[in-house]
Amino acid sequence: MNEHGERGLLGPKTVPVLMPGAPLDQTYDYLVPAGLAVEPGCFVLVPFGPQTRIGVVWDTPQGDQSRAVDPKKMKAITERLDVPPLPAVSLRFAEWISGYTLSPLGLVARMTMSAQAAFEPQKPRFGVRIVAGAQEPPRMTPARRRALDIAADGLIRVKSALATEAQCSTGVVDGLVASGNLVEVAVPERRYPVPDPEHRETQFTDAQAEAVHALVSSVDGDGFSVSLLDGVTGSGKTEVYFEAVAQTLRKGRQALIMLPEIALTGQFMSRFVARFGCQPAEWHSALSPAERGRVWKAAASGEARVIVGARSALFLPYADLGLVIVDEEHDAGFKQDDRVHYQARDMSVVRGSLGKFPVVLASATPSIESHVNARTGRYRQIVLPGRFTGADLPDVKAIDLRRDPPEKGQWLSPVLVGALTETLAQRQQSLLFLNRRGYAPLTLCRACGHRVECPQCTAWLVEHRFRRRLNCHHCGFSLAMPEACPKCHEEGALVACGPGVERVAEEVRERFPEARVALLSSDLIPGLEEMRQIIGEIESGEVDIIIGTQIVAKGHNFPLLATVGIVDGDLGLSMGADPRAGERTFQLLHQVTGRAGRAMTKGRGFVQTHMPDHPVMEAIISGDRESFLDREIDMRRRGLLPPFGRLAALVISARDKDLAEKFAREVARRAPPSDRIAVLGPAEAPIAVVRGRHRWRLLVKAPREANIQDYLRQWGEALPRIAGDLRLAVDVDPYNF
Ligand code: ADP
Ligand code: ZN
Repeated sequence: MNEHGERGLLGPKTVPVLMPGAPLDQTYDYLVPAGLAVEPGCFVLVPFGPQTRIGVVWDTPQGDQSRAVDPKKMKAITERLDVPPLPAVSLRFAEWISGYTLSPLGLVARMTMSAQAAFEPQKPRFGVRIVAGAQEPPRMTPARRRALDIAADGLIRVKSALATEAQCSTGVVDGLVASGNLVEVAVPERRYPVPDPEHRETQFTDAQAEAVHALVSSVDGDGFSVSLLDGVTGSGKTEVYFEAVAQTLRKGRQALIMLPEIALTGQFMSRFVARFGCQPAEWHSALSPAERGRVWKAAASGEARVIVGARSALFLPYADLGLVIVDEEHDAGFKQDDRVHYQARDMSVVRGSLGKFPVVLASATPSIESHVNARTGRYRQIVLPGRFTGADLPDVKAIDLRRDPPEKGQWLSPVLVGALTETLAQRQQSLLFLNRRGYAPLTLCRACGHRVECPQCTAWLVEHRFRRRLNCHHCGFSLAMPEACPKCHEEGALVACGPGVERVAEEVRERFPEARVALLSSDLIPGLEEMRQIIGEIESGEVDIIIGTQIVAKGHNFPLLATVGIVDGDLGLSMGADPRAGERTFQLLHQVTGRAGRAMTKGRGFVQTHMPDHPVMEAIISGDRESFLDREIDMRRRGLLPPFGRLAALVISARDKDLAEKFAREVARRAPPSDRIAVLGPAEAPIAVVRGRHRWRLLVKAPREANIQDYLRQWGEALPRIAGDLRLAVDVDPYNF
């Protein structure tokens, strides 16, 4: 009986609750204590076995209800948390992703609460402010004087911050509080300013204006649509999609801009400020836990109107999301290969369709998938044909390394060295690109031929000369550079084979001692601020030669860059099994060479290659993207590869080599028979051992119309229990082969 003395006809109220974080597909029913209001999406504390856990109230029971709790044993919700509830669309989105990726709903739901701090009670922070008109303290010391002078501006400061600024102890600050000169006040929560859609009016070219019109009308259309904004680098895609963001703001809704390399977005942020008058909220892995909590809540309350974020920003609990932009939509960084395997670009399209709002995919080199969707009319294609400045795209030449090789022990061919010399003489910038961190990818013993390998992976250790270490790029294993061969113990016999960016930098410094060189590689730059600073120096012309890995390929606009050299154009093509190898190499080389000559002079690009006749090289050099696409699309169609067919990978791993192989064969034997779906393998994964785990892979290939999830589910039910050290990962739409 409740407090009104009634006994509900339906018995006491119960609700299904999901435990985020648990690898469970299932909700459990809980009693709702009288007087507690709960609604779907709200966060609650519940007893779960011996623990208390955070749960989300779901609207309909999920999973196998035959395992539902016996009503007599049913427990009650302990408390409702003071956190905004997840909107219904977030619940549907989590269910959709769970069904598509075959990941337990609990793990997917975990991604929507990726800010622990938002769920913990927040202690208000206290600071101090000056008390105007108070009497001077009876004992005025120099330290007190400094503190009061700084506080004189009336701002609120945290005690320790004021003490640091005044070069005194916090005791001095406490003394001033005691004397009544300072008063303790709560520091206001950080507010998210509202970006102003009318802050600046942009003058668009005719082509841009047409694109703006198309995007703005898709926002006005009040429904789901996908637009592919396809324009060469420098054509103004960012300026154009800002107008879609502005229109979304005018309608009072939230917008998400997803970028693959959020850490490198200093330049992006200043352009955002120029257009909208304030910073957007940022969401990425470099945020502090407290900041994560704040952004999460601000997304949930609707206070954060525009969020710029990495792929995980898609799972924030937006109060009213009305637009998603996926910039550099072709970038493989949108694919997550950890726990829940998902492709954030594709999932943003799902999010748009559930939330009934437009999605904009932007790139200078869209993915084959998006091209096909545009060609078949599923996506609207919006093309920006030329650069905003009117500058031409750079001339790109191949340097045939078979005919024009570098000198022995060097990596830059005479033609490329000539181009660098010329560019330097003209006081312009050059960029040398090599997608390989470190000094040398292989260390070899001259005496015994031993190759230094990672003890835990099928991989050579990469020499990092600045740090004097050998590192594994797969598991992070690291070893101080040995003096002698680890195998035959011959002193001084180890030699570096092949180039990494550090080695290219060494060669450049020897050849051009007068040039100012910047080396950009993620392992050499400690943090976000340092990165943004180096980028700033490049933009302002304090650097002559930039040498970098793929972190220079993305998003930056180097206005003074005239010459680009690709040190090893073939690098991505020798990757073997990856069906996207050609596409990716094309995208990467096009993006990098496209950095040249964006502002002033006509840029030049040079690609060092052993295969100048390869279709990818031909497309890069001729700039004939369409015929490359035709070929690539045709090849995918004939091979039933994505997007014409569906792929999934099963990766079986174990520390024990035989166990992994035996289990992989067992899994293969139990594949349900099908005349449409093919199972390939098992075969050792391309990197057969990672972190000491032996990995075997099965590939599932299905025609587009087939339901690959149903097939995999059926297969899963036929498998023996996965116990002990064995692991089985399912990757629907695998990217990284
Ligand atoms: P993309 O994203 O296609 O590479 P951007 O939007 O970065 O192109 O534009 C390239 C450069 O041209 C930027 O410096 C940008 O500010 C400038 N730009 C593009 N369109 C305009 C415009 N309509 N008015 C002023 N500047 C523009
Ligand atoms: Zn390793």
